[in-house]
Amino acid sequence: MLDSLFEFIEASPSPYHAAASAADRLSAAGLLEAGRSEDWSELDLAVGLTVRDGGTVVAARAGPDVDPEQLRFSVIGAHTDSPNLRLRPQPDTGALGYRQLGVEIYGGVLLNSWLDRDLGLSGRLVVQDGTDSATGAGPETVLWRCDRALLRVPQLAIHLDRDVNDGLKLDRQQHMTPVWGLGEPSADGFRSFLAEELAVVPDAVLAWDVMAHDLTPPARLGRNGEMYAAGRIDNLASCHAAVEALAGLSAVPDNTAAVVVLFDHEEIGSDSATGASSPILADALERIAAALGADRSQYLRAVARSLCVSADGAHAVHPNYPERHEPQHLPALNGGPVIKTNANVRYATDARTSARFAAACDTAGVPHQIYSHRGNLPCGSTIGPITASRLGMSVVDVGSPMLSMHSARELGGSDDPAMLTAALGAFLADG
Ligand code: ZN
Repeated sequence: MLDSLFEFIEASPSPYHAAASAADRLSAAGLLEAGRSEDWSELDLAVGLTVRDGGTVVAARAGPDVDPEQLRFSVIGAHTDSPNLRLRPQPDTGALGYRQLGVEIYGGVLLNSWLDRDLGLSGRLVVQDGTDSATGAGPETVLWRCDRALLRVPQLAIHLDRDVNDGLKLDRQQHMTPVWGLGEPSADGFRSFLAEELAVVPDAVLAWDVMAHDLTPPARLGRNGEMYAAGRIDNLASCHAAVEALAGLSAVPDNTAAVVVLFDHEEIGSDSATGASSPILADALERIAAALGADRSQYLRAVARSLCVSADGAHAVHPNYPERHEPQHLPALNGGPVIKTNANVRYATDARTSARFAAACDTAGVPHQIYSHRGNLPCGSTIGPITASRLGMSVVDVGSPMLSMHSARELGGSDDPAMLTAALGAFLADG
């Protein structure tokens, strides 16, 4: 399972690649790909459906026998995006003999973790008369990645900042601009680089959504390999577990539609056309219900008897910062999936949904842990409360324990990916 997760992470340097990786795995499991703008009413939902839009994927498989009066959804939600450095639309800049690329900070980045790393680039490009167009006409969107060491944000030598170890201060505008060459910056250097990469003329590269990724591959870590280190564990570990759970499901229960939704834009608040605040999931569920013969009343009743498992990273206890944790709630690496609770509903879990997910863990034969945030620290959130308030659906927030959340390279337990996958699989299998 860990090797499979490593492959998934390596194939997914951007949310667009993550959505494609998920869709590819689900297609290999037999699910049919369809577009958001296509008619789904004739699709065989017992075979399954995968819909991809940018960095977001919705996939569904229905049970062999669905009575619209009894329909319910078993939903697993996660997110494809991770905090990182994103290129500006006019990125070419530089000073003092260096060529640099201007970046914006995406999400809650641990800025120091991006210093002194060899960085590649990836994302999506809009290209006129692109290289792999079937028709050769009109602009098209292509996925692109470059895994050469292209960029680096060089740290200042300690001799030039003697107090750095007493508190590193990084200005987002001034200190995070990567170098990517020597010489004078040219006005359209990045566009012409992309054109070279795609073997098109510079004017054919119309626009881009491009971001940096650490080139260090995922690795087992520790004396006995009991941990693993990788970029984007938050939240590709949950995306991978959700996809594997749906792809590996031997039978969907009667009257059930098993659904996986992987949203983009969670790290910046989910307000976008493909984020969790958009209608993308609600619309997909309603269209799936309609394709299964349900009318609107039956769809709304199906939502009322459904459950969504929102899967995202959970904070394992940190050995060097015990004072940052709630002493009665200390999740351990390799301790199994964590159920996350918060009285102020920063996590959407309630007693009923918590008990249901704990039962799924029991069925899967894996332990579970409980997380509650320290009272004197503000608590993070997930797509869970957004999905709950958007749909009026019951939600439980869960996830695998991890350290270094939002670092360019995070740390997890080597046994946790298989345990989360098993728990999610049991949830889908039992409804
Ligand atoms: Zn996350």
